[in-house]
Amino acid sequence: MSSQYYKLSGRFSPAGLAIALGLGVTGAVMSSAVYAYVMAWIPLVYFLILFVFGYSMLMGMLASLALRIGKVRNSAVGALVGLIIGVAALYWSWVFWILAESSQEVFIWAPDQLWAAIQYLGDKGVWSIKGATPTGVVLFAFWAVEAAAIVGMSAWSGFKAASNNAFCEKCDCWMEDGVPLGFFSVSPDANGLKGDLEAGRLDRLKALSGVTPDESHHTIVSLEDCAKCQGHKLLTLTERVITFDDKGNQQNKDTVLVNRLLVEEQLAGQITDFWKASLEEAAKSEEQAAQVPVTSDDTEES
Ligand SMILES: [Zn+2]
Repeated sequence: MSSQYYKLSGRFSPAGLAIALGLGVTGAVMSSAVYAYVMAWIPLVYFLILFVFGYSMLMGMLASLALRIGKVRNSAVGALVGLIIGVAALYWSWVFWILAESSQEVFIWAPDQLWAAIQYLGDKGVWSIKGATPTGVVLFAFWAVEAAAIVGMSAWSGFKAASNNAFCEKCDCWMEDGVPLGFFSVSPDANGLKGDLEAGRLDRLKALSGVTPDESHHTIVSLEDCAKCQGHKLLTLTERVITFDDKGNQQNKDTVLVNRLLVEEQLAGQITDFWKASLEEAAKSEEQAAQVPVTSDDTEES
């Protein structure tokens, strides 16, 4: 059964790894200069707290992009590359921050000297909030949160980038993101449907009826595709429950029923055609139902 599903190969090339590291670390060092100068020059503490998390997200995106370009599809290597990118961003943000705080006079980049400078600044305190200047353990706790956000976010994003995206080994390219083929009612026997699909009986999807994506409980049938070859297509079925919170915001609870089943080429069009036909049919019978009282009115008048 398992061979019918897409599996992450765990592969990467030395050249691809070098590209991912080169791009990621270069981007991290360059952006850390901007980050450090903003942190040093803008005195708004609350803005800076948000800025730390914004920069962490940016480093996560950088790690993802670098790993995608380097075609790394090994989750452990992805996490490690993300970690290195995050550490580079953090390290160089300290170098540039000290440069900025010293009005471009102190440029320390050797690890031991940098650590000594950080300890000195930690004892002295570097900023104030509501008249208080945190020092020692309190200030180091702030720095630890900043470090964890930047390094953690890029390592986690690296892990996800290398393991969440589907890759076509034949064409050596990432596959396109999943596209919904249609939205259907929920099967009363989800396991039975899964077994049928695994047995190649994709026509069993036709036992479901087409619905619109705003239906509160429905099944999403989606497909991932290789843009270069006609080989791989990956079918995913997701059950979605839509609820609304107190503020009226939509909340989706998704459960994956079938995860990246390898399927035949011609399937995509068939499922979409079936979904559309099913919706049209439903609309037609609704129309007919609405017309019934109108015709009875007519007969009364005549
Ligand atoms: Zn391909």
